[in-house]
Amino acid sequence: MARPHTVLAGGTDFYPARVGGAIEEDVLDIGGIPILRGISCVSAGWRLGATTTWSELLEADLPPLFDGLKQAAREVGGRQIQNAGTLAGNLCNASPAADGVPCLLALDAEIEIASSTATRRVRLDQFITGVRRTSLAPGELVTAIHVPKPAQEARSAFLKLGARRYLVISIAMAAATLEIAGGRVANARIAVGACSAVAQRLPALEAALRDAPLDGHLADRVERSHLASLTPIDDIRGSATYRSDSTVVLLRRLLAGFVP
Ligand SMILES: Cc1cc2nc3c(=O)[nH]c(=O)nc-3n(C[C@H](O)[C@H](O)[C@H](O)COP(=O)(O)OP(=O)(O)OC[C@H]3O[C@@H](n4cnc5c(N)ncnc54)[C@H](O)[C@@H]3O)c2cc1C
Repeated sequence: MARPHTVLAGGTDFYPARVGGAIEEDVLDIGGIPILRGISCVSAGWRLGATTTWSELLEADLPPLFDGLKQAAREVGGRQIQNAGTLAGNLCNASPAADGVPCLLALDAEIEIASSTATRRVRLDQFITGVRRTSLAPGELVTAIHVPKPAQEARSAFLKLGARRYLVISIAMAAATLEIAGGRVANARIAVGACSAVAQRLPALEAALRDAPLDGHLADRVERSHLASLTPIDDIRGSATYRSDSTVVLLRRLLAGFVP
């Protein structure tokens, strides 16, 4: 039986994790496989190829549904990192602070996975199972990320808090996708990252936003109790209390940006 290989895409997480040590594992570089790259619009939504880079996402002609993911792309490292780092690499690395995860949770993304014998799809909230852990089995590869077309006109947004404005690991971040119909929120998907082992949707806040008028007062609907499922930690970047307080502020600012 073939030995398992470690997949290499842009290498921007892979190499920093191996500084000071020899690379002894077998590595499969997927960066040159054309079918894994690029964004296409299909009848059910959009297919984002696994090795699509953050820069390619930024250049793509996409509807306002993707504004939040594009905002995250602008904040993933600097230009060199955005040119090399890939969307699937960000998910497969499964860092609690991965900026793409809350945005793609708020987009209801599904992950397309292939092995030499089968392909399958799994919802993103079931794909990342813990810190640096995913549901990928040995011999499996992420081939694409699928974003479904929302039932209504939809917009998204993303905000990140770091110790400085750019080139920084998130202390907390929040992403929102709102579907709008008749001047009201028909559907809301809100996710928070860096405040639990795996980024999470906030169903209680989503319920509080449903059917709310888009009158510039959505921020008033955010309550601390909506964050009850989060488990922020104390670390060198911030205390748990600071993370919780900041998340409330981030969510309110994010929602205040949704105006008619
Ligand atoms: C200076 C610097 C700044 C950074 N800033 C940020 C930041 O602000 N925000 C942020 O979220 N991240 C940041 N990162 C992390 C990194 O750039 C991103 O997570 C990037 O998207 C990773 O993609 P990659 O293609 O480089 O992944 P790689 O390093 O190639 O791979 C990462 C992991 O995923 C696995 N993998 C990759 N692709 C696949 C696949 N298709 N199928 C299965 N497994 C796969 C690899 O085996 C590896 O374990 C930064 C990194 C650096 C070095």
